Amino acid sequence: MNSQIELDNIVEVINRAKTIGIFTHVSPDGDAIGSSLGLYLGLKQLKKDVDVVVDEYSRCFHFLPAREDMKEEGRKEYDLAIALDCASQSRLFDPNDSFLHSKVTVSIDHHASNTYFANFNYVEDESPATCKTLIKVLKRLNVSINKEIGECLMAGIITDSGGFRYSTVDDETFEFAAQMLDVGVPISDIYYRTFDVKTKAQFELSSIATSRLTFYSKDRIAFTYITMEDLKKVKAAAGDHEGIVNIGRNIEGVEVSIFLREDEDGTYKVSFRSNDFVDVSEVAKMFDGGGHARAAGCTIDPPFEVAVKKLIKETVKRL
Ligand code: 5GP
Ligand code: MN
Repeated sequence: MNSQIELDNIVEVINRAKTIGIFTHVSPDGDAIGSSLGLYLGLKQLKKDVDVVVDEYSRCFHFLPAREDMKEEGRKEYDLAIALDCASQSRLFDPNDSFLHSKVTVSIDHHASNTYFANFNYVEDESPATCKTLIKVLKRLNVSINKEIGECLMAGIITDSGGFRYSTVDDETFEFAAQMLDVGVPISDIYYRTFDVKTKAQFELSSIATSRLTFYSKDRIAFTYITMEDLKKVKAAAGDHEGIVNIGRNIEGVEVSIFLREDEDGTYKVSFRSNDFVDVSEVAKMFDGGGHARAAGCTIDPPFEVAVKKLIKETVKRL
């Protein structure tokens, strides 16, 4: 489907709907939270009866407007359910299965691995963030992107682009940031809160993970992990593991960084990052995961040693 036609369709179904539910992926990051709140505020401006449903998230985003309106579950059904920043229905945080029961569904996203699971899908896989893709939708809906909406969208753009560092950042991204400065969005403050400030538990987890860094393939792969015991010891809260995967990635000569985190159910959540050429979404796909070329993830079963061996083996193949 031509994406322009799909955008027209999405604008039409949004305009037509009275009740709208907004959903995003489990373990939400800045882009998931920012796009959800940004769209929520935009649809409120259009006087829609709208809910925003978001899973537990890092307290570094507590400064965002309207976050107290977030719901833990959706209604039984909506005229329209919108999934943001979510590549597949199985990754959607939707405890009430509202998405499944809603009359019309839409997905707005920037993952190349998006499965086009909704009735209408607007996916820009070259976009640095779903928040950036959302700008087009909001403009087409004649929403005024004010300071509050701008704060949400900039939080997503800043975090998902690694602070304007990734190659997906284009002239439009900087132009939008400049426009947002003009309406009063405190960009340097958002940058500081989301990048520089660490919780104590986050700092402690980072030092544990740093002490366990192991290198493979002539130091081109960096690997580290944290266990449930570590998470309990430092009294970790949601999002406190964020950033650990970058420790290995930022070491000179490392192409792929792999970070494994033990989950409550005993499985391991894996994060992959690459620097120049390895498409880590391909590696993640081997384990039923997905993501982007330079940032991807999957879940893998224990035992630990076997899991690590498999991950390293699949990565080495692509070096
Ligand atoms: P993170 O390492 O920050 O958890 O995730 C990096 C990227 O990979 C994100 O864009 C995220 O959507 C994607 N991702 C992480 N875990 C999974 C997974 O289990 N399945 C899929 N399909 N994508 C994932
Ligand atoms: Mn994203």
